[in-house]
Amino acid sequence: MNPEENVEVGCPWCSELISLRVECIEPEQEYIEDCPVCCAPMLVRVEVPPEGFVQVDVEREGG
Ligand SMILES: [Zn+2]
Repeated sequence: MNPEENVEVGCPWCSELISLRVECIEPEQEYIEDCPVCCAPMLVRVEVPPEGFVQVDVEREGG
């Protein structure tokens, strides 16, 4: 597995497809990132299973 992966997600605010760079070093992460398109804050949840694909969930933050 790569140490970093690019994952495409749909922004929960503007629905634009955006590419997030995810570090696969930590099995679980949660952080806030601003959408590069509409600048709204998204809560990003990353799960990196021991095998398989990185899973990324995005939610509206602050709503
Ligand atoms: Zn957006």
